[in-house]
Amino acid sequence: MNALEKFSLEGKTALVTGGNRGLGRGIAQALGEAGAAVAVTARTEEAAKAAAAELGELGIRAYGLRLEVSDMDDVERAVATISAEFGEIDVLVNNAGVSIGAAAFDAPDSTWREVMSTNVDGVWYCSRAVGRRMRERSGGTIVNIGSISAEIVNQPRWQVSYLTSKAAVHQMTRALAAEWAPYGIRVNAVAPGYFLTEASPVDQPEYKPYCVDPAAMKRYGEPDELGPTIIYLASDASSFMTGSIVKIDGGYTLF
Ligand code: NDP
Repeated sequence: MNALEKFSLEGKTALVTGGNRGLGRGIAQALGEAGAAVAVTARTEEAAKAAAAELGELGIRAYGLRLEVSDMDDVERAVATISAEFGEIDVLVNNAGVSIGAAAFDAPDSTWREVMSTNVDGVWYCSRAVGRRMRERSGGTIVNIGSISAEIVNQPRWQVSYLTSKAAVHQMTRALAAEWAPYGIRVNAVAPGYFLTEASPVDQPEYKPYCVDPAAMKRYGEPDELGPTIIYLASDASSFMTGSIVKIDGGYTLF
């Protein structure tokens, strides 16, 4: 296999949680363009099926289904369904996540619970459910979507829950990488800086001093600038990497 062929995901099946919109949609398309068959999830069946249909129109073999990542039983159901109806999962991208701005003294407890149950419990449930099947098949790759917010506190709005949740995702990445390496399962993460997505709240002038000005490259990331790195971490191109956190932030964290 030559160097370029190592990036191919031909014959692989990938699952992208929250793959119907935003960064997840771009990641799903990128994995499909690299040759993978791609399952995408959303919180409604309708949104998941619509995203799968869009990917299908691009010539990607795709499958959409509803999934609530914070619900362990729902995760087990979804993983079993995808494996039976679409294909055993070779690549898991834990992308689904939420951020809620709220000052620590004022935030209702429900804010903390929603962010932690989605961003931390969700990554844990999906990794464990898929990881068990990967162990039986002696291999697979998991890519977690972390954040530079795991390391810095330079926010346009206070969000202690989100920062804490992403730090947990980074450490979960390292812990599972160490524990599952003997089973041929590699676990890595990306730490994006500020990217523009359809639903992004950061595309407002008042956010620029926080999101754009501190970055060496003085701009937001575009959704299609994440996919190639996910292909790299999901494929044999990164066969000696596990437990790594790869920053994609336009030089935001240099200073
Ligand atoms: P979006 O809000 O655009 O999309 C979030 C996705 O996650 C949607 O598909 C949503 O599904 C899904 N989702 C949310 N909560 C749940 C849940 N409880 N169960 C199942 N699915 C859920 O976010 P982004 O694309 O901006 O972010 C994607 C990931 O990237 C997140 O983990 C985020 O923290 C991370 N990130 C984003 C950055 C950015 O600048 N955009 C920077 C750093 C990290 P539905 O459509 O059904 O609501």
